[in-house]
Amino acid sequence: MDYRGLFEDAVDALRQEKRYRVFADLERIAGRFPTALYRDAADNAREITIWCSNDYLGMGQNDRVIAAMQDAAGRLGVGAGGTRNISGTNRPLVELERSLADLHRKEAALVFTSGFVSNEAAISTIARLMPDCVIFSDQLNHASMIAGVRQSGMQKHIFRHNDVAHLRDLLAATPRSRPKLICFESVYSMDGDVAPIEEILDLADEFGALTYIDEVHAVGLYGERGAGIAEREGLMERIDIIEGTLAKGFGVMGGYIAANQAIVDAVRSYAPEFIFTTALPPALCAAARASIDHLKASPHEREAHQRQARLTKEILSEAGLPVMHTDTHIVPLIVGDARLCKAASDMLLEKHNIYIQPINYPTVPKGTERLRITPTPLHDDEMIIALRHALVSVWTSLQLPRERSTVKYTTERLNSGDLTLPTSGG
Ligand SMILES: *Cc1c(COP(=O)(O)O)cnc(C)c1O
Repeated sequence: MDYRGLFEDAVDALRQEKRYRVFADLERIAGRFPTALYRDAADNAREITIWCSNDYLGMGQNDRVIAAMQDAAGRLGVGAGGTRNISGTNRPLVELERSLADLHRKEAALVFTSGFVSNEAAISTIARLMPDCVIFSDQLNHASMIAGVRQSGMQKHIFRHNDVAHLRDLLAATPRSRPKLICFESVYSMDGDVAPIEEILDLADEFGALTYIDEVHAVGLYGERGAGIAEREGLMERIDIIEGTLAKGFGVMGGYIAANQAIVDAVRSYAPEFIFTTALPPALCAAARASIDHLKASPHEREAHQRQARLTKEILSEAGLPVMHTDTHIVPLIVGDARLCKAASDMLLEKHNIYIQPINYPTVPKGTERLRITPTPLHDDEMIIALRHALVSVWTSLQLPRERSTVKYTTERLNSGDLTLPTSGG
C-alpha cells in the first residue's frame, strides 16, 4: 500500500481546486502592532503591515497583558500541571472564570483550551443532557458549532441564515414537549453581519427553547464593558448560554461559556473535551484576565476600533473597491475567484508589504472568495491610505471587478440559488 501517495493525492486535489493553503511565516513585534517581520521562502526577513489579524484590538501586545503573563509565569511557572479533575485549578483560572461570569452577568463561567473546544464541548454536552432534544442551528454557524451539533447525535434543523421566519416554521413544526436548543452567532465573521438576536430570543420564549450564542467576534469589541452585541442591545440576561474566545478581541488564548450555575456545573461534569485535557496555563489565564478587566473599564480601544473600521470602509469604497457593507468591524473585499484571490494576496505581500490572507472555500462559499480586512485601533489613517493605494494598484493589475453593486451578503446569494454552501466553515 502506498500510504504516502494517499496523502499526497489528497493534498494535490486541493492544489487543483486552488485551495491549497500556505501560511505566511510571521514574527509579530511587541509594541509595533500591526507591523511584523515576514520571511519569504529563502528566509529573507522584511517588515510588513498585517491587515487580517483577529487580535482585533491589539490586546495581545498590550503592556498590562504582557506584564500579567510574565508575572504569573514567574510566580507560578509555565504549565498548569494537569487536568483540573486530577490536579485542581490554578488560582489565576479561578479568577479568570469569576471575571468572565461577571462580564456576562451570569452565575458562572467555564474556561476551555480554545473557543473551538468550548463550542464543541458545550453544545454537544448540553444537547445530550436534554432527553430527545432538537437543535436549531443557523446555516452559517462556525465549524466548531457544527462539530458540537454533530457530536451530540441529536436531531437538528438548519435554519436559513438569520431568517427568523424560517426558524419559526421549524420551531412550530416541532412538538412542544421536546427540549429545544437554538444555536447562533452574534457577529458572523466572514460577512460581518449581525444576528437578529431579540427576534430569536422572542421565538425562544414563545416555543420554550434554550438559547446558545457564539459571541467570539464580539467579546471585547462591543457593549459597555466589552461583553458583546447582546450586552450592547441589552439582551444578555435573556440568553441562556454565551460562548466566547479569549484569543481574538482579548488577544490571548482559550475559550469559555457563561451561563447559570446548573448548566456550567453539568458541562464541567460531563464534557470529555473539558475533563480529559490539561487546563490552560496560569500565565495565559492571568493575561486573559488582565485583558478582560482592562476592556471592561476602558471604552477607548472599542471606540478607536469602530472609527478605523468605518474609515477603512469609506476610503476603500470611495476608491471603487468592492467592499461588502457591514455594520461591524469586518471589511470583506469580494474577489469571487479562488485563483485571483490568492494572486491578489500574493501581490499585496510581494509588492506592497501588506499581508491579507485570501479567504477561500470551504471557509466561505465558492464564488465569494475574498480578502477579509480587519482594521484595528492601531491601524492609523496613513496605513489606511497606503492600503487603499496598494489595493487599487492590485485591482488594476489583475483587472478585478470594481462595482460595488455586485457585492451582496452571502445570505442573499444563497437564497437566490446563486451559491452552494460548504459542508462546514473553518
Ligand atoms: C475563531 C472562532 C471560534 C474558535 O475560537 P478559537 O478560540 O480560535 O478556537 C469559534 N467561533 C467562531 C465564530 C470563530 O470565528
